[in-house]
Amino acid sequence: VPARFEKQVHVQEVLACTCGRGVVTAPPPARVVDRGEYGPGFLAHVVTSKCADAMPLHRLAQRVERSGVPMSRSTLTDLFHQAASV
Ligand SMILES: [Zn+2]
Repeated sequence: VPARFEKQVHVQEVLACTCGRGVVTAPPPARVVDRGEYGPGFLAHVVTSKCADAMPLHRLAQRVERSGVPMSRSTLTDLFHQAASV
C-alpha cells in the first residue's frame, strides 16, 4: 500500500447539565505544537525528508500537493522550525 495522508477530525463534545449551571468540554487531543493542526507523524516526515533525505522544502511541498493535500513551502518551513523548537 503506497503512503498516503489522512486527515483526522477531532470533535470536542460539550455537555451541559439540564439545571443550566454546569458545562463540561471534552479535552482536546495531545499536540506536538500548541494549537498546531499537523500531527507528530507529519512533522517527523518533514524533518526526515529535509535532513535525512536532503529534500528541499519546495520539492516536498510539491510531493505533498500531488497526494491531494494543499501545501505551501512556507507552511513546511514553519513546521520545520516549530519541530526544532519543541
Ligand atoms: Zn446541574
